[in-house]
Amino acid sequence: MLLEVRDLHVEFRTRDGVAKAVNGVDYQVDAGETLAVLGESGSGKSVTAQAVMGILDMPPGRITGGEVLFRGRDLLTLKEDERRRVRGAEMAMIFQDALSSLNPVLSVGDQLGEMFVVHRGMSKKDARARAVELMDRVRIPAARERVKQYPHQFSGGMRQRIMIAMALALEPALIIADEPTTALDVTVQAQVMELLAELRREYRMGLILITHDLGVVADVADRIAVMYAGRIVESAPVHDLYKAPAHPYTRGLLDSVPRLDLKGRDLCAIKGLPPNLANVPPGCAFHPRCPMARDVCRTDVPPLYEVSETRGSACHFWRECLHG
Ligand code: SF4
Ligand code: MG
Repeated sequence: MLLEVRDLHVEFRTRDGVAKAVNGVDYQVDAGETLAVLGESGSGKSVTAQAVMGILDMPPGRITGGEVLFRGRDLLTLKEDERRRVRGAEMAMIFQDALSSLNPVLSVGDQLGEMFVVHRGMSKKDARARAVELMDRVRIPAARERVKQYPHQFSGGMRQRIMIAMALALEPALIIADEPTTALDVTVQAQVMELLAELRREYRMGLILITHDLGVVADVADRIAVMYAGRIVESAPVHDLYKAPAHPYTRGLLDSVPRLDLKGRDLCAIKGLPPNLANVPPGCAFHPRCPMARDVCRTDVPPLYEVSETRGSACHFWRECLHG
């Protein structure tokens, strides 16, 4: 297994007290596999990814428990310099906002080239040639000329391709993409997603795709983990989950988008708001919003029940949901 997250806990200190942003998350990604992590903002999906990447080491966020096994090694026990090496060469992250992730005063060629100079000890000239190759690889037209340009001279979609090129530069085993297409318009979104999916296949990388957009997930993911209030509430192969959700929250998400036009819609026409993570409701955290909630839901936290060998649901009444 490429990546295995086990019982991960992350806390934040907030005005309202300690917020359990990630509260016992388990997930796995194998080489060549795409895991989509789906949820509303504040569900803990980004924080989990930041903990995996090791970019969460600063207050107010704190990892309070669990393991992040990368090729069997627990990254949480590594020293910072070892950690940095893994982060640079073996895993990479793509963010939503390319403009603030790229350096505005360096040409894209210099930024891409720097990866090869720093990590591969290449000469500037060779690094520049590799930068052009990479830009070609992510299908930026006229790469040879555009390599000299600055980030602001590219469109949003092209900038996102540059981010992908940066992430790919050292051929990492794992890429984590956090809302990589959210800022783009729908057609460009589809192109960028297609490119990511294609590169993932070609390089046999593991890909974790964090999104709030069900439309994006359907075409590219192998598995989905649905997060709510810092926990995974459903985990399933993508087709199973679409066919019949085993958790009322997932059902709500599916029902809230018109099935013939999934693309580019926000999640959640579900009534109510996600809970304050410093003050999560007792029992099932979803109970105040759940149309199926009963007494037991207000007192007993549902474990992730085994629905099948490849599927789990954290709902006491998953059977009813699945067959209802
Ligand atoms: Fe709804 Fe109860 Fe299931 Fe939670 S455990 S999702 S409240 S039915
Ligand atoms: Mg986020």
